[in-house]
Amino acid sequence: MKAARLYGTRDMRVEDIDKPTAGPGEALIRIHACGVCPSDVRGYTGAGAHRGSFPRTPGHEWTGIIEALGPPADDGGGAPSIHTDDANAPKPLALGDRVVADWRYVCGRCYQCRRGVFNYCENMRRAVRGGFAEYGVAPLTQLRRLPDNVSFEDASFCEPLACILNAHSGTRIDVGDDVVIVGSGPIGMLHLQVARHRGARLIVSDPIAQRLEIAKTLGAHDVIDASATDPVARVMQLTEGRGADAVIVAVGAPEPIRQGLQMGAINGRVQLFAGTYPTVEIPTDPNLIHYRQLVVTGSHDFTPHHFSTALRLIQYGIVRPRPLISHRFTLDGVVEAFETTANRRGMKSMVSIA
Ligand SMILES: [Zn+2]
Ligand SMILES: [Zn+2]
Repeated sequence: MKAARLYGTRDMRVEDIDKPTAGPGEALIRIHACGVCPSDVRGYTGAGAHRGSFPRTPGHEWTGIIEALGPPADDGGGAPSIHTDDANAPKPLALGDRVVADWRYVCGRCYQCRRGVFNYCENMRRAVRGGFAEYGVAPLTQLRRLPDNVSFEDASFCEPLACILNAHSGTRIDVGDDVVIVGSGPIGMLHLQVARHRGARLIVSDPIAQRLEIAKTLGAHDVIDASATDPVARVMQLTEGRGADAVIVAVGAPEPIRQGLQMGAINGRVQLFAGTYPTVEIPTDPNLIHYRQLVVTGSHDFTPHHFSTALRLIQYGIVRPRPLISHRFTLDGVVEAFETTANRRGMKSMVSIA
């Protein structure tokens, strides 16, 4: 089969390699689409810590069709709900099913899992990788069947959307709140759609005019061109000097983070959604947090429930990923897809494989 193989910094080649086979409790999937994630791109440009060995096939936002099933897992395998007598239980996954894969395998038994903090499972492993290829293998426990109305491309957004839902479960947004989204890339625009359904008045700040146009079509009430206007002053203007009840900083850079803290209203919540690469220290006046009673939170990854919820939000049209796809590539164009994202051209790059 054809697969993208990363050999080192900015050295990725499309090569013929052996097709994988499904082991016990696994499915072989003909991959149809895989989204380019900023974390994939950090591995490619060397901006993030390289994890794993070379060569390797990146890609975790993938979807496709089950083409073969491995033998049953030793422990009975499959998701627990599959092995139940309940007539309402979902039917087992089968050949020909369209599926999306949750790459995070969590054990359910460690300290963090037992207190429900599945995104910090102590035995977490990457159950799924290698999405920029014609075939992939995934444990059945990690797969969700796609409803008929959800396309492969849309379903590939389950992973980033799940991360966003984790952030929203830790950031209070009340009906009518003034909410600022700093950064209107694909991640900011998923935040926007979720915050919109929570009844927020939405202000989006970004230095790229094209992205602000997309923000408007997705329901932003006000946009701020951060290349020409001081976003903090503008937010104060738009909120009668109060600041924002919630700020979601969807960019991992010192200036947007500093701005995010300065925009917070009394009792405001500031969500630092993006990691910073490389790590930085930001000089900040702690009185900003103290005297305004700010709640500053972060969020990282997601739980299996967030992943399932993400698929439901897409199924019911509550979140629409399609407008966020700006570039489409074939597998042979995967290097260009990565370069496009690395250079922040457009929004989301999607690789269509079948
Ligand atoms: Zn991702
Ligand atoms: Zn665990």
